[in-house]
Amino acid sequence: MTRAKAHVGDAAFLSRKNNEAWAEPAYSGALSAFRRRYSRDLKNVDAVIWGVPFDLATSYRSGTRFGPQAIRRISAMWEPADNAWPYDFTPFTELNIVDYGDAVFDYSRPETVLDTITAQASEILKSKAMLYSMGGDHVVTYALLRAHVKKHGPLALIHFDAHPDTWSDTNKNHYHGNFASYAIDDKLIDPAASIQVGIRTRAPNPHKLAQVDAEQCFKLGVDGVIAKIKKIVGNRKAYLSLDIDVLDPGHAPGTGTPVPGGISTRELYMILRGLGSVNLIGADIVEVSPPYDVSDITANAAAGALQQLLCLQALRRKKTSKRKK
Ligand code: MN
Ligand code: MN
Repeated sequence: MTRAKAHVGDAAFLSRKNNEAWAEPAYSGALSAFRRRYSRDLKNVDAVIWGVPFDLATSYRSGTRFGPQAIRRISAMWEPADNAWPYDFTPFTELNIVDYGDAVFDYSRPETVLDTITAQASEILKSKAMLYSMGGDHVVTYALLRAHVKKHGPLALIHFDAHPDTWSDTNKNHYHGNFASYAIDDKLIDPAASIQVGIRTRAPNPHKLAQVDAEQCFKLGVDGVIAKIKKIVGNRKAYLSLDIDVLDPGHAPGTGTPVPGGISTRELYMILRGLGSVNLIGADIVEVSPPYDVSDITANAAAGALQQLLCLQALRRKKTSKRKK
């Protein structure tokens, strides 16, 4: 990998191409997600990384508004010139990826925020790019799903979480534990094609969403979990929502409502890597709360998961271009 430009710095603003691997020290320079170019020009862009720093729907410890900043900061360590284990390529040169910055909303009028997020996500989705959003608390997924469904129709949901998020409220109040119910109420997701992984708290489940709880993850093993996800989702268009509290608090202490007894970062990455044949059309990573984090453990786990998802997209691209040859 070329390091010819290693002493230029600030790739976030100075790189001219979206797929440059531009080495610069992880501890300095202008921050962006994985040192990608900050851009709102989505022509020929394959993937957009976008922050949604909203945390007014948390029930216990807040702070996820700082999630996107923390993920950007630690992602600088994931030098684009390096490969993500165990791949022999980097998504940052295979795909055109940009950092689109953050959603902008009026926090003093919280009742308007979800509509604003949906409108801004819809704007991004006018392009051909996949949208990877960084929360924020989990209510933002409801707003993001609305935008994706407008483009793709009802979706299968692959939902990693310690919590089922199927508590309910007919007024659609801002509560981060309700997004899955709202998504079902609004027919954004098909409950029969959706699955929740890593659950270890109880909530009503009137639509009988399939679940692999945290202990079943251990008993079934990674391959068993992957098989179950693929069986439920089939060839449907799927949205992946990753609540970082699916990880055990030892692997993700920086989150608002940690629940002991979760899966490990290694298991999560292996499960994500097994989803290559799933028709993913969008994803988010939510509930990273830096004020409660220790040594960036949680933000780092989230950045790594995001990189795994980008690798999946790059792999799909490589396979399609091979078929065309
Ligand atoms: Mn959640
Ligand atoms: Mn949760």
